[in-house]
Amino acid sequence: MNDNHAAQHATSETSRDETMAVARRASAPEHCGWCGRRIDRSSTVGRRRRYCGHACRQRAYERRSAVERSGLPTDAVILSTTEVAALQDRLFQLRCAAEDVATAAREGADPEELRELANELARTAHELERLR
Ligand SMILES: [Zn+2]
Repeated sequence: MNDNHAAQHATSETSRDETMAVARRASAPEHCGWCGRRIDRSSTVGRRRRYCGHACRQRAYERRSAVERSGLPTDAVILSTTEVAALQDRLFQLRCAAEDVATAAREGADPEELRELANELARTAHELERLR
């Protein structure tokens, strides 16, 4: 990650970010219970799918079994240090993309530039739906 970019984005407007997050939550799509990828509901018939595929269902089962043996609550979500680091990295990229939009808007960027930055923000957010 570029240091200049990090410094440039050090002053975030947290309250605004939180407001936006709350607004989005109401229409949140369904996600795989293991990897977090969005589950395509158009391909589901009948019962709701909890996982995007067999591999994720299997890994979730294995993790659940291990969690039960450990004595932790069965709905505990356990991420490895590597998984958390990757998640934090993608969260940082999301914040940078969001702040790029805010900066461009503040500096009077033209609609085309704003559209491109907003598309980049959406792409970054989409990538973040994947937890692992
Ligand atoms: Zn999955």
